[in-house]
Amino acid sequence: MSGPEIACSDHCLNASGLSTAQLVTTLSISPDITEHIAQLNAALGVPSNYAASRGLTLCLTPEALVDTEADYYGRPQRLTAQALRAWSQMKSCAAESEITLHLISAYRSPDYQYELLKRKLDAGQSLEQILQVNAAPGYSEHHTGRAVDVGTPGCAALVEEFEQTPAFAWLREHAREFGFALSYPRDNPAGMAYEPWHWCFQEQSSGAFAKNLDKPARKE
Ligand SMILES: [Zn+2]
Repeated sequence: MSGPEIACSDHCLNASGLSTAQLVTTLSISPDITEHIAQLNAALGVPSNYAASRGLTLCLTPEALVDTEADYYGRPQRLTAQALRAWSQMKSCAAESEITLHLISAYRSPDYQYELLKRKLDAGQSLEQILQVNAAPGYSEHHTGRAVDVGTPGCAALVEEFEQTPAFAWLREHAREFGFALSYPRDNPAGMAYEPWHWCFQEQSSGAFAKNLDKPARKE
């Protein structure tokens, strides 16, 4: 039995290493997963038209994730193998220019996302406020194991001031060479707040930077 077919977006459903050709078609998604995500969202009171109204598609968790270095807070984090390789090389390359990039957050499950939103609701924030800064469970790029929240010394975590840092300037210039893109620029169509710290590895564009990944990171 096949599940409902859900259209892919460029930045979400390619977490399982699908080719570009496959990406423009559709994926079959387990009804169990879609049902679970619908239940999480219903429990939070997320409107049923949330995804459609923001042009969001489900972000699936890949079958395999690997451990990264400990994050800035000493916590274990996980990414896809490809995303970790790209992240590690990008970080090394930045370090050669005396730019320090550190990991603040990587993979998060839909259940974790639910708990995150639930805590904010319980603390008195409105769902509308929360959904400007956090995607609803099932729709966060962090579910794909390809998104990283990036920090740098001298700047608080996850604040807009990150855009003033040399690290952000370096990322603007070089992240794409490693396959990372800024997911939520100002006035993004998903209605998310501007997140200069959130970068997502785009597997489908691997042709553009595969050469970079196959040789040791070095400053060009
Ligand atoms: Zn993020």
